[in-house]
Amino acid sequence: MTAPWDDILLNKQLIEDVVPIAVDAALLQGVLMRTKEEPNASDMVNYAPFSLFPSPVPRTLFEEARAVQQDFNLLVNLVSQDFRFLKQTLASTVKVDEFVAQLFKIYRHVLEEGVAQSVFLGINRSDYMFDRGTDGIVALKQIEINTIAASFGGLASRTPDVHRHVLTVLGKSEEASRLLSNHPAEGIAAGIALAWKLYGSDKAVVLFLVENIQRNIFDHRYIENELWKRKISVIRRRLCDVAERASLDKDRRLYMDGQEVAVAYFRTGYMPEDYDTQGWDARLMMERSQAVKCPDIATQLVGTKKVQQELSRPGTLERFLPTNPEAVARIRKTFAGLFSLDLGEEGDKTAAMAIATPEKFVLKPQREGGGNNIYSEEIKKVLEKAGNSAERSSYILMDKICPQPVKNYLLKAGGALQLSDCISELGIFGVYVRHRKELLLNEQVGHLLRTKAVQHADGGVAAGVAVLDNPFLL
Ligand code: ADP
Ligand code: MG
Ligand code: MG
Repeated sequence: MTAPWDDILLNKQLIEDVVPIAVDAALLQGVLMRTKEEPNASDMVNYAPFSLFPSPVPRTLFEEARAVQQDFNLLVNLVSQDFRFLKQTLASTVKVDEFVAQLFKIYRHVLEEGVAQSVFLGINRSDYMFDRGTDGIVALKQIEINTIAASFGGLASRTPDVHRHVLTVLGKSEEASRLLSNHPAEGIAAGIALAWKLYGSDKAVVLFLVENIQRNIFDHRYIENELWKRKISVIRRRLCDVAERASLDKDRRLYMDGQEVAVAYFRTGYMPEDYDTQGWDARLMMERSQAVKCPDIATQLVGTKKVQQELSRPGTLERFLPTNPEAVARIRKTFAGLFSLDLGEEGDKTAAMAIATPEKFVLKPQREGGGNNIYSEEIKKVLEKAGNSAERSSYILMDKICPQPVKNYLLKAGGALQLSDCISELGIFGVYVRHRKELLLNEQVGHLLRTKAVQHADGGVAAGVAVLDNPFLL
């Protein structure tokens, strides 16, 4: 795809002149991150990495991604209420994956005790790439759906104005006016606010669970501030704070430092390193409570790659959405090939196929946060080593998506200015709220475009690989 600014990309002088203007625009718009050196104080901040230009995205595929988001919300909501499906699907995984096993143990504990929570809040982000088939046709393919700590809804609300300014300065004001506005932070906050209201206690707070290292705090702040605007109090605590100072009363209401918690919104807790023994105790306490967890433990499990793979099995979507064949068709259209590596004949076939043509696939463990996937020759090594041992079933195999690269400059604080071949990943934010069995909100609330140089197989913005971007619809 060619963009209307392709002629400018090679004009070195013009690019060098516009970069400082772009960086200042990002700072002025609040596209910010704390620094590596001082991740827990805002005395030193810098711009969050972003692309100098927006990236061309096919309009029809963008619309397709937006249109399927409510379907995905419905699906996640239903799967999260199906213990038997989750148990069966994750049975092989929990045997070999300590982390998923721990999550599952808490899930089981909460079900056995009886779920105290009656309001459920889902904030997810379904991620896609634009796959160029061998026939040259470009298709929208889902990479994954994130059901916990789906990030960058805050900063993504501010990046359109940065690109508008850059394009205007470069004499492309007509293109600038065509860039979409984007308000995921508002939509996410509206979901949290509704959950808070349904919880029904005026004085209760929203608790953001945060990491020990908080470089991406500004992304959170946009959501926090939207809540404060609605006169909803927000507190930020780490899992260790919860372990040390939170408690449940006899009705299993959750209190943190003496304040009742209506909503516990997780921006941590998605990888093993987020938990020590205390952290797991904190998670269990919260899950047992009446507070609205976002996500509750079942919904976090729905976000595993293993569940994604099992949902792609013929007949499974139909089972969850029996009266909604249109939704089933929309969802299925976004699925790439996903293959089980469970022990047995099916898994043996998958492993043999991956070993024979590793460059066609991505091997995925049950991890979040980027940088965990395995590619090309490494796939062969890992699968040959795992052989027929149970370890093999800790992975799933996925068709590799191959987008057409586009040239852009990726701006990172302290980084060199370099024209790169880039590929983009589109995320769509979805929010839903359920009160007992009744779905009261189901919305698509905005998007995120992340772009990275093609040589990086994996890794997100937080990992320093991808940068924030905007779609320019063509
Ligand atoms: P995580 O939960 O760690 O973000 P992802 O499934 O999103 O895991 O994979 C991380 C990154 O790896 C993605 O952002 C994407 O760049 C790349 N990736 C994942 N799946 C594929 C795929 N099927 N084809 C090509 N690249 C992929
Ligand atoms: Mg993920
Ligand atoms: Mg991802």
